[in-house]
Amino acid sequence: MSEQIRYLKCTNCGYEDSSILTMSLPIGSGILKCYNCKKEVKFDELYCEQGRGMTFKEYAELLKYIVDNHGWRNLLKEGSKHIKYIRNSFDTRTNLIFSVQLDKEDFTIVNQNRHRNLKDWIYEYLKS
Ligand SMILES: [Zn+2]
Repeated sequence: MSEQIRYLKCTNCGYEDSSILTMSLPIGSGILKCYNCKKEVKFDELYCEQGRGMTFKEYAELLKYIVDNHGWRNLLKEGSKHIKYIRNSFDTRTNLIFSVQLDKEDFTIVNQNRHRNLKDWIYEYLKS
């Protein structure tokens, strides 16, 4: 049984936020100042399943995908992110990785990103 959690999505820039702070705001009018685009815009109120971390198997597959497509040696490859360093945080309570850093890009499913699926989030970034 997974818990449904609320998150907000900016109708201007698409920024998503599932932090406790926005959870507690009254959404009646739906107008809030967006953390990302800094405008007073309408937010859509959405629900999804609680976010999910990555298993070690998924992480190993991710590392291989990055080395093959976005690693430091892919300097001439079109669309490559040229990632040099990859770090992770592993939670021994869940046996899942809940945080990955690709150089300076941070993917951590806490605070405003509690609703995200870590694996999908990272692959979306890599394919963007
Ligand atoms: Zn926005």
